[in-house]
Amino acid sequence: MFAPAYLDYNATTPVDARVLEAMLPWFSRRHGNASSRHEFGRAARAAIDEARTRVAAAVGASASEVVFTSGGTEASNLFIKGAAIARRTPDQRFPLIAISAVEHPSVRQPAAQLAKAGGRLREIAVDRDGRIARADFDAALAERPALISVMLANNETGVIQDVGALAECARPTRAWFHTDVVQALGKMPVDFRALSQCGVHALTLSSHKIGGPKGAGALVLDKRLELVPQIVGGGQERGLRSGTENVPAIVGFGAACALLAEQESAAVVRQADLREEVEIGVAELGAVIFGQAAKRLPNTVFFALPGVDGETLVAKLDRAGFAVASGSACSSADPEPSHVLMAMGVDPEVARGAVRVSVGRETTAKEVGDFLIALGETVFQLKRLATLAS
Ligand code: PLP
Repeated sequence: MFAPAYLDYNATTPVDARVLEAMLPWFSRRHGNASSRHEFGRAARAAIDEARTRVAAAVGASASEVVFTSGGTEASNLFIKGAAIARRTPDQRFPLIAISAVEHPSVRQPAAQLAKAGGRLREIAVDRDGRIARADFDAALAERPALISVMLANNETGVIQDVGALAECARPTRAWFHTDVVQALGKMPVDFRALSQCGVHALTLSSHKIGGPKGAGALVLDKRLELVPQIVGGGQERGLRSGTENVPAIVGFGAACALLAEQESAAVVRQADLREEVEIGVAELGAVIFGQAAKRLPNTVFFALPGVDGETLVAKLDRAGFAVASGSACSSADPEPSHVLMAMGVDPEVARGAVRVSVGRETTAKEVGDFLIALGETVFQLKRLATLAS
């Protein structure tokens, strides 16, 4: 059977077979509600506790700091909204929130919603390579935001921010500092203890980017912060996230985190080699690689070929059997050029050509080689059609 090559690991990853195996009993035989007092409930509670320990261990946190959610989006919403409500000004207005201009919509949208409801939002500029512009960061701090959110690694470009150093600078302002580590986890070290010593208070995690199931994630939260819960009801997750726990998904998330500890560093080096190959191949076709001068995740290449439309290229590659993303996967229904590239000062016409290749655990050198051949052929055809039409 024809098997397309999957080169879109930043959008989501396949569930690891060992993760699936760990999850299966919790759908059927072991179906208890973790709040029940009988044996079925106690077993579910113990499984959640074990998953909590595993997730905490993967990011150098303690289990009591992990709040399970339905994913990264909910975790960031909980932080941004829960903290903004908790830190309302004396006249009951939402406080100033500062976020980087390249945040994922799961941070941008709740911050924008609060701004519309009477709060204030300050975007922190990035440079041409997608790194936080330090002068603008300092200027934002001078405005005294109550909350700051800067992601550790960008989902589109893979650009890594020096979050520890930024949090250290922000510490004297007493802002609550959040970082989305959804894309960083599994691709680079993430250590909540070290980050919290620099002044970071919360991390957002998602299971489906690391070989776990969709529908599970966590907010890792400094317990000194008193967030106002956004989903209330039965009081699960220390009252911070009510709702009967999704035991199979939480167990799967924990199993995926445990596998990260076993992941050999060779696996990440192999991904970096494949990424390098993609970069050399696209550069030969004349591509611009976004964020190339910055420190980036080892698996991500975000590029554009001048004169080639990204959406068209992605559709043609899909037909040829290669799954890659145009712009951000999460906003591919949105025809606007990527806000990340706009913030980096990329020409909108160039940004419309943006294509993201992200490799992962199961990507092979053959897939990458075949992809580059298909890309070369597709670009040749598109350019020939454009010449004929002109
Ligand atoms: N943050 C980043 C950087 C992401 O890439 C994503 C998903 O694409 C999310 C947050 C949202 O996570 P989830 O899909 O678990 O809601």
